[in-house]
Amino acid sequence: MHRHDDAIEVLTQAVVRYAIDRTRLDPPPLDRPRTLTELRAMAGHTIVPHGIGGLEALRVFGDVLAPACISVDHPRFLSFVPAAPTEASILFDLVVGASCIYGGSWMEGAGAVFAENEALRWIADLAGLPPEAGGVFVSGGTAGNLSALIAARWVWRRDTGGVHDRTRGLLLASGGAHSSVAQAARAMDVDVVRVPPDDRGRLTRDALRTTVDELTDDERERLFALVATGGTTNAGVIDDLRAVADVTAELGVWMHVDGAYGGAGLAAPSVRDHFAGVEAADSFIVDPHKWLFAPYDSCALLYRDPEIGRQAHTQHAEYLDVLHAEHGSPDTPAQWNASDLAHHLSRRARGLPLWFSLATHGTDAYRDAIETTLRVTREGAALVDAAAHLELLMEPELSIVLFRRVGWDAARYQAWSDAQLAAGTAFVTPTAWGAETVLRWCIVNPLTTVDDLAAIVASLADDPPDSAAAGDG
Ligand SMILES: *Cc1c(COP(=O)(O)O)cnc(C)c1O
Repeated sequence: MHRHDDAIEVLTQAVVRYAIDRTRLDPPPLDRPRTLTELRAMAGHTIVPHGIGGLEALRVFGDVLAPACISVDHPRFLSFVPAAPTEASILFDLVVGASCIYGGSWMEGAGAVFAENEALRWIADLAGLPPEAGGVFVSGGTAGNLSALIAARWVWRRDTGGVHDRTRGLLLASGGAHSSVAQAARAMDVDVVRVPPDDRGRLTRDALRTTVDELTDDERERLFALVATGGTTNAGVIDDLRAVADVTAELGVWMHVDGAYGGAGLAAPSVRDHFAGVEAADSFIVDPHKWLFAPYDSCALLYRDPEIGRQAHTQHAEYLDVLHAEHGSPDTPAQWNASDLAHHLSRRARGLPLWFSLATHGTDAYRDAIETTLRVTREGAALVDAAAHLELLMEPELSIVLFRRVGWDAARYQAWSDAQLAAGTAFVTPTAWGAETVLRWCIVNPLTTVDDLAAIVASLADDPPDSAAAGDG
């Protein structure tokens, strides 16, 4: 099982061939989920005492399991936040898996951590963070937000000299903040006060001022962080980060910017100025598995002062302390023990696929690919605006388009969405805007074309046959 014998060589050829063939599909089939009953019947029993053999397991995967997973990189997958990993990043993900690197410490993974830090430096520079900024790649935005907020609370308690060691903390978050911020607050047992968003879902200076002014003395005492979003997942709008920077500086509280989806926009000159103020962030996250063309799973977490992240997160144990012994030597920088910078210990060097792809193509190619998605988004929004049966809810600020189909209710939207997926044409799920059900496109794939969007616009002109009886508006 652990030796590379003849049988394993045959399996190697088959598995590598499978992976390469998958990356060659242009486009891949959209595919769709199956029921548990269907999968049980089609996959059969795979976990048995003597094994079914690698070639048979690969067949089950290719014939049954993979087609029951929607291809997130399909150019007409426009739901949630799609992924569009580069060929280079996918191929290198195979190499990372084969290399068995422990990415948690400098001692064990110096080369990997060094390369990951190069990629993090590019992101820190895009955000305008200082030279000493740094961080680590974690599994996703949820883990990144939690780790950043734990660091924020740690420094609040440190700076108040122990007075608040048992005080329940409080954070302010924009109304458009991602659900993972509330989830982090639940995990940390802290309160969240929402800043009411404007009609586009943005946090504004005035609303922030009002919310801060209305805090009670007790709440003000407990406030340790302000979470801004750049941009929101539902609408792709960016909070007034300059206002957040001003208010956090004035109050002396931590500024966290959640750019899990939108942070890639920092690399795009056409929208870079919308992020003004991000350079003041104490912590910042962006998910390379969203709009920076890396495979799952990957979130870049950056701290203005990584020492705070380190103090908040380092685990101490008899068997681990050898990793910290060299701390202080500038050339064997144990301060870059990646494990010490977030809520985790063992870790895959998951930043390496991004590093390899950046090194392969150069940062200009990233800028151009992100600009391509922005241009397609703007042209798609113009198509929506021009269509008599559709109404654009707002001009897109990043790469998300929100729009309504005139006269449709929630059931109609769902029936249309289901029909598109069943036909393998597109995957566009409805979302909510206020109390209304609407449609949403999230465009992060440079292979998505204006023609793809035009086809979707055209398909929305007809009523889905199974709901035609509901009447048109
Ligand atoms: C997607 C998203 C998250 C969560 O990221 P995961 O990688 O899915 O955990 C957090 N914040 C924002 C703004 C997001 O768009």
